[in-house]
Amino acid sequence: MAIVIVGGGHAGGQAAASLRQEGYEGSVTIVTEENYIPYQRPPLSKQYLSGEFDVNKVYLRPEKFYETKGIEIRTGLTVNEINRKEHELICNDKTVIRYEKLLLATGARARTLDIAGSELSGIHSLRTIKDVDAIRVDMAKANSVTIIGGGYIGLEVAAVAIEAGKQVTVLEMEDRILKRVATPEMSQFYYELHRSKGVNILTNCTANSFQGNGGEVSSVHCSNGLEIASDLVIVGVGIVPNVEIAENAGIKTSNGILVNEYCLTSDPHIFAAGDCTNHPNPLLERRLRLESVPNAMEQARVASANMLISIEKPNAPELLKAYASIPWFWSDQYNLKFQMVGFPTDSDEVVTRGNVESEHFANFYFMDDAVIAADAINSPREFMLAKQLIGKTVDKSALADPNVDLKTLTTT
Ligand code: FAD
Repeated sequence: MAIVIVGGGHAGGQAAASLRQEGYEGSVTIVTEENYIPYQRPPLSKQYLSGEFDVNKVYLRPEKFYETKGIEIRTGLTVNEINRKEHELICNDKTVIRYEKLLLATGARARTLDIAGSELSGIHSLRTIKDVDAIRVDMAKANSVTIIGGGYIGLEVAAVAIEAGKQVTVLEMEDRILKRVATPEMSQFYYELHRSKGVNILTNCTANSFQGNGGEVSSVHCSNGLEIASDLVIVGVGIVPNVEIAENAGIKTSNGILVNEYCLTSDPHIFAAGDCTNHPNPLLERRLRLESVPNAMEQARVASANMLISIEKPNAPELLKAYASIPWFWSDQYNLKFQMVGFPTDSDEVVTRGNVESEHFANFYFMDDAVIAADAINSPREFMLAKQLIGKTVDKSALADPNVDLKTLTTT
């Protein structure tokens, strides 16, 4: 029996490890178009960009792990086509790989900007090790760095660049940074933080074109007429899920590869996990496409368990594991650890615990008097307990009082 995993990101790497942890002894192959063994992306905009981590610290597990566990990794190989009838993958070098069960962990790619001057050198996306290696070369010689997009990745890059002594500008087309994911208060918190460090943040500002000099970017022209001198530009305007090989094979997709609660696609032998999926969340009662490590890891675990069940006990669908997690996420900027669970933007009331000025606090978000989300700055204990409060009705004044141990509220 052969299980093949397409994609060597967090989901692909975790799925292979989980298959062995669950005792699967058949063949496991990871096919990944990148030239690296499975790696984690979060350090790419943080410690790997700053030079604090070398590439070995970015890998999910050392190469030896896969050798010991008998997991084959085929790097630098792209799956071009899935032949579902024959259970075969056709790769870019014409290699054909057979599968009994297939996991699509194809992730996503950076969205690019289609504006004049995009072909100039010095303009980068940030999704892969290769991207960051190129950014680091350009960053070393750059004076002025412009970041297009005020999301978490853009702001993490801004933090690294300003600490490296660059002149940094962030362009955000919305009226506030982090608008898609954070409340106005958290947007304001991060706005003030970055401003205090010297980052220039321009909101309601869209990049219209790039100007160059000798083939290299020299400035960004904005919708409001501003021209921003830039010798390095990082484009952080979101991602596009990699669904094409699934779609071309007739697997159902819609803003991601459609899976059910068991991480199963519309083909009974093909599962999917991670950023590429559009999946149901029974706790939130809606479908989601997420871009986060905890989701990629959990879906990979669920998909692996279910691939094994479908091999070993194909007639026992009642044994399948269902995915049901409240989404959570983190971001590191300067010396601040931000953690978030649930969707704060859905709330109708917020209770803050701790002190915003001292950069040590947690916000608890309510809807109809139940906690639906929380975010925390430099407060990992509060965050851990906040996760246990989701869905509960708690005494708001006790929640706001740092003298009341949060643990006592989790048991009510
Ligand atoms: P990916 O990591 O995208 O991996 C998919 C892999 O599949 C890629 O290597 C791709 O090349 C390969 N592939 C695709 N198609 C094919 C094919 N046809 N053939 C062969 N190979 C293929 N999340 C957090 O929770 N916290 C953070 O702080 C955080 N920071 C981030 C910082 C950066 C810079 C980035 C880019 C992301 C960050 N994320 C963070 C998001 C997180 O990294 C992703 O959610 C996670 O990587 C998703 O893992 P994945 O395995 O689903 O997909």
